[in-house]
Amino acid sequence: MKTWVKKFINQFDISDGSERSNREIENDDTPDFDLPEDLATILYIIDSHMKHLFDIEKLPARKARQTLEELAQQLIKPNNPNLDKVLFRVRQFFSSYRISEYSYIQKTFDDFRNIIWDFVEQLNEGIEEEVSESEVRSHFEQLREAVESNSIDTLKSQSRQFIDSYIELQYKKDKKKTERMEKFQRNLHSVKKQLVEANQTMSLDHMTKAFNRKSFDEHIHKQWQLSRVTKSPVTLIMLDIDHFKRVNDTYGHDIGDAIIKECVKLLQDCFPRELDFVARVGGEEFAVIMTDYNVVQASHAAEKALTTIRNETYVQLDMRIKFTCSMGIAQLNEGETVEEWIKRADEALYTSKNTGRDRATIAEAKTAKSA
Ligand code: GH3
Ligand code: MG
Ligand code: MG
Repeated sequence: MKTWVKKFINQFDISDGSERSNREIENDDTPDFDLPEDLATILYIIDSHMKHLFDIEKLPARKARQTLEELAQQLIKPNNPNLDKVLFRVRQFFSSYRISEYSYIQKTFDDFRNIIWDFVEQLNEGIEEEVSESEVRSHFEQLREAVESNSIDTLKSQSRQFIDSYIELQYKKDKKKTERMEKFQRNLHSVKKQLVEANQTMSLDHMTKAFNRKSFDEHIHKQWQLSRVTKSPVTLIMLDIDHFKRVNDTYGHDIGDAIIKECVKLLQDCFPRELDFVARVGGEEFAVIMTDYNVVQASHAAEKALTTIRNETYVQLDMRIKFTCSMGIAQLNEGETVEEWIKRADEALYTSKNTGRDRATIAEAKTAKSA
């Protein structure tokens, strides 16, 4: 018997079912039966096969090992009369095992390929635009080819390359997106600023920069509503420059304009509270809305303003111009509309004009009869 066969049989850990134990075999270098080299070769193949079994579909490793052990025991039996049958079973096992093994590996590869294929298809639908970037596009095409190929190594490396380039692209896109958002925010900020400025321009009188008629209408309605809720007083002063036609006639229209501007400045000085609202509501007509002021408080402020204006001298070259105003004062009455309120202030102003000008008249409170 050849030396390798002897050595192999001594290492071989399959019992032949006879009374010889493994220990006996280990202690004795010459087994007491003669194993032909061709049978030993088959046993050798069975032995190495058993060392690397793994579970495959329909044939768990445990079951395959059982069959192989049984075949090995039959082969090792000296003068086995059924040797032909055993050899037939060995051939049968290996051919069917190889088929199962091949289809198992092929199926696993197909599964893997299908997963990648689905991934590629989904990406293709969702990212047509994104993969137009040349590098990602070329990795994408290579990945498609790899899916169609039969090489698992190509598929693995192409998947990895594509995913790397795709992640890189996403990173770049995120960066671009952030930059775009920042730019958008900057634009938004400047548009907002322009809108605020435009709104201010729209609400101010171009010549004097006092609030204009439109703002006055909005503000008086707001104060009217607020006062109904808070029950706080609010008083309106209507005001008109006296004999303004004469100013125009004597000094010219430009000086007339300058006087109107001067009048606004004086009014803004005389009604300085944040709650005072000075508006130019006509050519040389103005209105002051005094929130939180009753008619007494407002008429004090009005008298002071009349004095200030009366004492002011507008100087232009050698011209020294003095002017006065007339006023009508009305505190908002309960149950009164905005129009009624303005009308009462206007009527009081008319009274001031008719009783000598340069004065303020307090409007009568709305009586139940006049309501
Ligand atoms: P009264 O005391 O009764 O108010 O007399 P008045 O002369 O002021 O009369 P009224 O208020 O009716 O006339 C206002 C004049 O103001 C008429 C118009 O020519 C002039 N005016 C209106 N707007 C402007 C303006 O923007 N600039 C100039 N320079 N004059 C204006
Ligand atoms: Mg007037
Ligand atoms: Mg006037």
